[in-house]
Order: sequence, then C-alpha cells, then structure tokens
Amino acid sequence: RAKDSGRGQMRFYEPLMDEKIERTRDLGAEMQGALERGEFHLVFQPIFDLTGDRILSCETLLRWTNRRHGAISPAEFIPIAEDNGLIVAIGSWVIREACRIASSWPSDVTIAVNLSPIQLRSANLPTVIMNALAASGFAAERLELEVTESVLLEDIEASLAALDAINRLNVRTTLDDFGTGYSSLSYLTKFPFQTLKIDRSFIADLEQSPASVAIVQTVIELAAKLGMRTVAEGVETHAQLEQLRRTRCDAVQGFLLAHPMPASMVATMLAGDGVKALGRS
Ligand code: C2E
Ligand code: MG
Ligand code: MG
Ligand code: MG
Repeated sequence: RAKDSGRGQMRFYEPLMDEKIERTRDLGAEMQGALERGEFHLVFQPIFDLTGDRILSCETLLRWTNRRHGAISPAEFIPIAEDNGLIVAIGSWVIREACRIASSWPSDVTIAVNLSPIQLRSANLPTVIMNALAASGFAAERLELEVTESVLLEDIEASLAALDAINRLNVRTTLDDFGTGYSSLSYLTKFPFQTLKIDRSFIADLEQSPASVAIVQTVIELAAKLGMRTVAEGVETHAQLEQLRRTRCDAVQGFLLAHPMPASMVATMLAGDGVKALGRS
C-alpha cells in the first residue's frame, strides 16, 4: 500500500519535472534566433532623489516576448542564457541599446545596466563598452554597470580585475542587491564600487523591523564613509520613503515612485518640467 502511494507520487512528480526541463530546453532553442527576430526590448525604471522630484538615473531592465511562449521573465530566461552562453551576445546588445536610447536624455541623467557574472568576466567586455559608447556618443561617466554580490565571491581576483577595467573607462559600477549574499562589510573596501544598492528585502522590512532600520542606517553611514552613494530599491510605501529620508540614502527606486516603463515614456517624463513622481505640487 505504501509502495503504491509512493509510485503514485512518482507518477505525479515526473511529468512536472519533464515539463520544466522541456520548457527550459525549448526556451534555450527559441533564444538562439531571438535577437535577430527583435524579440528583446528594454524598459527603464527611474531612480529618484529623496524628494521624489528629480530623476537621477534609470535602470535598464530586459524584456523578452517570444513568438511561441509570450512574455518571459528575466528571472527565468537570464539563467538559461547564462547556461547556453547567449548572455554575452544578449548582454552586449543591452549595453549598446541602453547607450543609444539614453544618449537622447538630458545630460545630468545616468543609465544603469545589469551585468551577468559571465559578462563581467568575458574578455571582450571593455571593447563592448567602448564600442557602445563610441557608436552612441554617450559619455562614459553616465553609464553605470550593476553587478550582484554573489559575483564577487565566485572569483574575487577576476572580478576585481574586471571591475578595475570598467572603472578605467570612466564607467561607474554599482553593487546590486546588497545584503542578500554572504560577503562581509569588509568586502566593500576591497572593491571599487561607486554606488551601493540596498536590497529590497531590507526596504520591505523597514516598517515592521527596528533591526532592519538599524541595518539600513548602518549600511548607509558606512557607504558614505567609504565614499559610496546608496540607492534603496523596492520602495513601495510612503512609510518606507519617510524612513529612508530620515536615514538619508542618496536615491530611491521602487513601485511607489515609478514602475519600469518604455523608453518613450521615460523621454516624456524627462522632458516634463520638474518630474513629480509622487504627485505632490
Ligand atoms: P534587479 O537588477 O535587482 O532589478 C530590480 C527588479 O526589481 C526588477 O525586476 C524590477 O522590476 C523589480 N522592482 C522594481 N521596483 C520594485 C518594487 O517596488 N517592488 C518589487 N517587488 N519589485 C520591484 P525584473 O525586471 O523582473 O528583473 C529581475 C532581475 O533580472 C533583475 O534584478 C536583474 O538581476 C535581472 N535582469 C534584468 N534585466 C537584465 C539584463 O539586462 N541583464 C542581466 N544580466 N540581468 C537582468
Ligand atoms: Mg539591478
Ligand atoms: Mg537590484
Ligand atoms: Mg534585486
């Protein structure tokens, strides 16, 4: 009897696994021609100063709408692209496209682009960046590349060398999702980041957890002492924003202020006289 129910579970379990494996294989195959078919596009999420009145930067977020599978989340397709190596070609396209689009924005607005660890350690990354800047006429100082904490622990020497190479081009680097990995605060002194982005899990806890308030406050103060700017990501409520104003981070990003949006809408917002994300007058 126990054996029967055991087999029953197996029969229930296997098709689900097969489906997931099949979808992964399918998406990997569809990804091959996706760039040529123009299935990728970029959206941009504005990053504001603490008043919420001024856009300082926009984060580039990749979107894929496949002819057969429809819209696929980057959380699903980026790992597949990293496995099959296509992340390098796709990521290069993202950098070129982001620079091209942002070159028509006001010159005090920067653009942030996410980098996969595989891209970071690919030998031709500096060339890709230089070509993107040259083709668009976009100033290196206005480009920021975001890498997550996990990247650094995988191969410290290679990551450090790659980040130095990026910084030598006058392109800035941001440590993304800070606090989710296992790196210690002392890592911050080893790596040449200009900006530290505090992970949204800490921001989400600000209202309920005095410990999170203390952590966020400490991280902001430490970053300032080390000469780094801080951005809080995932700001969803006014109470969180108020707390961040008290702890004085440099910039805020999240659904409260603006969702990721198409380039045309960013251009409209930037052209507007004095952006009012929070509808204040
Ligand atoms: P990320 O770099 O940490 O980007 C922030 C993610 O949080 C985005 O999800 C964004 O839409 C979402 N977000 C922004 N504000 C809020 C908020 O207030 N609340 C909540 N719950 N979420 C918020 P998205 O676009 O689905 O991207 C997910 C991840 O995929 C990114 O995390 C990044 O790691 C990766 N990704 C996206 N585009 C690229 C890319 O071009 N290249 C690489 N390598 N990775 C990318
Ligand atoms: Mg990011
Ligand atoms: Mg992030
Ligand atoms: Mg994140």
